[in-house]
Amino acid sequence: MSMISRRHFCLTGAAAAGAVSLSSAITAIAQAPVSQKSAQPGFYRFNVGASEVTVLSDGPLNFPIKTLFPGHIEEAQKELATHFLPQDHVALQQNTTLIRVGGKLVLVDAGSGPGGKFQPTAGRLLDYIAAAGYRPDQIDMVLITHGHSDHLWGISDLQNEVLLFPNAEFVADETEVKFWNSPELTVNVSPALKPDVTRANLKLAAPRLRLIKAGAEVLPGLTTISTPGHTPGHMSVLLHSGNDQLLLTSDVVVNYPVDFAHPEWPFGFDQDKPLAAKSRIAFLDRAAADRTLVSGYHLPFPGVGHIVRVGNAFHWEPASWMWPSA
Ligand SMILES: [Zn+2]
Repeated sequence: MSMISRRHFCLTGAAAAGAVSLSSAITAIAQAPVSQKSAQPGFYRFNVGASEVTVLSDGPLNFPIKTLFPGHIEEAQKELATHFLPQDHVALQQNTTLIRVGGKLVLVDAGSGPGGKFQPTAGRLLDYIAAAGYRPDQIDMVLITHGHSDHLWGISDLQNEVLLFPNAEFVADETEVKFWNSPELTVNVSPALKPDVTRANLKLAAPRLRLIKAGAEVLPGLTTISTPGHTPGHMSVLLHSGNDQLLLTSDVVVNYPVDFAHPEWPFGFDQDKPLAAKSRIAFLDRAAADRTLVSGYHLPFPGVGHIVRVGNAFHWEPASWMWPSA
């Protein structure tokens, strides 16, 4: 083969290989899950010190205002209107968080589960794990902040029979797990929360479930914070790397127009409402005083920003878009 013909051959081969990979990519896009075709981009990546943080959306949930703010419906509507939001329902995002820390890949909460297991708009997490360049089998740990549907049910398939993270250790607070497995649970928890489904998921995870006390460090750089009231063993999370920190709310604070302006108001899904309000105010106060970067599970995607004290209330200040280091 002459020099020219060899070069021509190589170029032709490269072009052909390019055509094949492009064709594969198009096929892959054409076969992408329906939810991915109709969805907005749903992951957001940045760094906290040496840790890589990727917020992964599980899609939104929608609730009647009376469900979330039963004692303050009209006042809550006014707060929503002030923020240019609908006044007939409240949309809550679900921002799960994938963190590279301590040599491990940790998913903090797993969303509501695929197939619209909890609500039809949710269940997008697996699509966005793939879009972010990861696979479920790469995840070493799923840290479950509490047992509600929108944080736990995503560890398993639609039938609650198969764990979706085959290599993950599951970590949860011992008080929380005891609460959901308690015989009195059916009396103490609303049937709307479907405690049997939560129990089924905890049972499925049991062989790989590590119980901790809220407040424990689960990995070097990843510490839980006891924020009880929403549920008995509810945890928030602190990521720290070098001088940088990220506070993950979970459900200690949920809706920014209402909860930040009136953190003392009872929230509909709080199990122990006075204790939850106490935890909420303490968390908001700490984050505002320390000026810590915050990741809010139910705040507008990607839910990263700062909390500012305004008199006896608080204000949510979204962070400017951050780009991950290469
Ligand atoms: Zn929640």
